[in-house]
Amino acid sequence: MNTSWKRLNVGVVGGGIGGMSVAIALRRAGHEVIIYERSDFAGEVGASVSCAANGTRWLHEWGVDIAKGDPVVLKKLINRDWKTGEPVSVYSLDDYEKRWGYVYNMFHRQYMHSMLKDSALEEEGEGIPAKLLVNHKCRDIDLKSNKITFENGKIVHHDLIIGADGIGSAVRGILGIRPEKRPSDSSCLHANVDADEAAKLGLVNYSQDSALEYWGGQEGKWDKIVLSPCNGGKLLSYYCFFPRDQGDFTTQAWGAESLPVEDLLKPYPQLDRQVLEHLAIGKEIQPWRLWVHDPYPYIHQGNVCLLGDAGHPMMPHQSQGACMAIEDAAALGILFNKKYFNGDVAQALAAYEEVRLPRVTRVQSAAAKAAYNINERIGFSVNKDTPTYKVEDPKKVLTIEEMNAYDMYRDIEEKLAAKRGGLYTEKFICGLPIGLELPSGIIIGAH
Ligand SMILES: Cc1cc2nc3c(=O)[nH]c(=O)nc-3n(C[C@H](O)[C@H](O)[C@H](O)COP(=O)(O)OP(=O)(O)OC[C@H]3O[C@@H](n4cnc5c(N)ncnc54)[C@H](O)[C@@H]3O)c2cc1C
Repeated sequence: MNTSWKRLNVGVVGGGIGGMSVAIALRRAGHEVIIYERSDFAGEVGASVSCAANGTRWLHEWGVDIAKGDPVVLKKLINRDWKTGEPVSVYSLDDYEKRWGYVYNMFHRQYMHSMLKDSALEEEGEGIPAKLLVNHKCRDIDLKSNKITFENGKIVHHDLIIGADGIGSAVRGILGIRPEKRPSDSSCLHANVDADEAAKLGLVNYSQDSALEYWGGQEGKWDKIVLSPCNGGKLLSYYCFFPRDQGDFTTQAWGAESLPVEDLLKPYPQLDRQVLEHLAIGKEIQPWRLWVHDPYPYIHQGNVCLLGDAGHPMMPHQSQGACMAIEDAAALGILFNKKYFNGDVAQALAAYEEVRLPRVTRVQSAAAKAAYNINERIGFSVNKDTPTYKVEDPKKVLTIEEMNAYDMYRDIEEKLAAKRGGLYTEKFICGLPIGLELPSGIIIGAH
């Protein structure tokens, strides 16, 4: 126990996946947390969200009741031929839990969200239960006095303010960050398919594969179908990408009215008939507006920081958006815990930025590359025997080792030691063990 530790009164703007996660991490670290959410969560829809081992490990550490999220535990990544559906590249996850200690979960976002919300707010569990105030849309923050003003007129003060308000973040603008962004060259429509309904119609039962399945994505083409099962396999969540010039959507509105199924089928005259028959019974067809954001120069100022999509929106092609938000939350939970926090909020946030920015921007850039080349996607990135395998730079591909062998505690200790003039003697660099050889041939610590 560090004698200069003190309890903070924390305000979290945004009650999505990242906001709920950081509320859990900080209540466990001993702080009082209030989450301010602009919506009331009514009428939200969503689809599958990936939670690989680097996210799942924190759910375990925080004692989250994962069964409530009704996940599908993934066994494989399968890339299929666009026209025939034959597997082109398969990455087995059979030894995944043995290697990394945790499984790869696929959640439905709403189930995942309520699982995290329960953990943040319920009486049981470590620390003081967080409070949630809905219909609180942040309008402004005074960075000198740490006061948040909401559109409903309320003004509150907090010792630490976390902007977890998603891709369209208001807090980001308040911190003076003006994103360099452009619409992606691809558009995306999302559709849900009921696995039982597909089975009754005699269609292929993809839910039995317990796999993230991809059609296309090879040879620089934007056309790609991504299938992820969720809700214990009862729901098949399809993300359907195609070139933006074949259909542009100006809004990203999870929860908008369903588009006609013809819009979903139109871009894919040559697609494998088996998956096309699934799409033909797709429901809740919604556009997902995709923006490519260049990395931000900073993610904190004074006692305010950004977390999740607010700080590093990324394309969905590495399936790491939610995991990165969870990791951000974990980093804050550690930095403000009784062992490491010395009462200096700004110093802790400076360390947060140093720990998080390099890692999230690496994933962000790998996600942009995987948008048009599936061989850049974690997992497929090491399947070099695939006939069409080609990557921009084999030494720079993102690999499972880098994601899952990462030790955040060591990374934080290294950064704090540098700030506080302490000695750091662990055999880790930026959280990765010295000597670890990545499948890309890079050895951590070798020059
Ligand atoms: C309704 C919804 C459905 C989604 N569905 C999917 C999906 O199916 N698949 C997928 O891969 N990703 C989905 N996403 C995105 C995904 O959840 C995030 O990319 C990822 O989990 C990172 O989480 P986050 O907390 O940073 O952002 P989010 O989970 O997007 O949460 C941001 C939260 O901040 C709130 N907010 C925004 N502005 C303000 C403000 N000014 N004041 C107060 N609160 C504010 C939002 O209402 C939201 O609840 C969805 C996001 C939302 C909001």
